[in-house]
Amino acid sequence: MIMATLPLSPALRPYDHVLLDLDGCLWVGDEVIEGAVEAVAALREAGKALLFLTNDSWHAPEELVRRLWRHGFQAAVDEVLSAGAALQFWLAQRGGGGGAYVVGSQALVDHVAAAGLRVLNRTEFATRADVVVVASHERFDYEELKIATQAVLRGAELVGVARDATFPMPEGPWPAAGAVLAAVETATGRQAALTIGKPEAAMYDAARDRLGPGATLAVGDRLEVDVLGARRAGVDSALVGVAEPPAGDLRPTHVARSLAALVLGS
Ligand SMILES: [Mg+2]
Repeated sequence: MIMATLPLSPALRPYDHVLLDLDGCLWVGDEVIEGAVEAVAALREAGKALLFLTNDSWHAPEELVRRLWRHGFQAAVDEVLSAGAALQFWLAQRGGGGGAYVVGSQALVDHVAAAGLRVLNRTEFATRADVVVVASHERFDYEELKIATQAVLRGAELVGVARDATFPMPEGPWPAAGAVLAAVETATGRQAALTIGKPEAAMYDAARDRLGPGATLAVGDRLEVDVLGARRAGVDSALVGVAEPPAGDLRPTHVARSLAALVLGS
């Protein structure tokens, strides 16, 4: 039998599962981070189970898989867990159906519908939704903010997809789900009942459902998202994109300049 020979950093050896963030870990916008493709290939060679864990709710898992392949990463659809997919898992687990108003991409609307809720967008019943789901999307407009506000003030449960303020793009940060959620919270004076994406438990519950038990390392570029989420979920973390361990109480298990530096020690 021929064994894999790609050298894996000793730091990675104890783990069965590796949760990999996308934005800022594998790529920034359409630019792949140097060495990330080789690092992911080495993790596969070493037999690690991978799950691509992203607060992105703009894109369906199928779109994210195509993007992964386009950039040179091997991935299967069930290895991609977006905040939208985790929301679907959470809504389906909870059951009960009901009507939903969704501020978000078509991919997010599809996740809500797949969980068994009636999507009331573009109907006269939108402000009578039982649940208002909020994320950011490219066509976000005032009308959506208005309907979401009225639905929440009429008693709808407010669910945020994530609290990220921004996501990285080559030209500079773009407003993320948290920015739109803050607008709805400000307009209504209500806090979201929960948010789904990292660092919240719902995302890691969905991840655990996919992967099953095993020693897990969560890798990402944001302390308050990836590292905090891992700590809350009780798994080890690696912060990438930094030269030094962060100051303060929230300490990742590992720090590295990049995913490649973490995985290949290079
Ligand atoms: Mg990230």
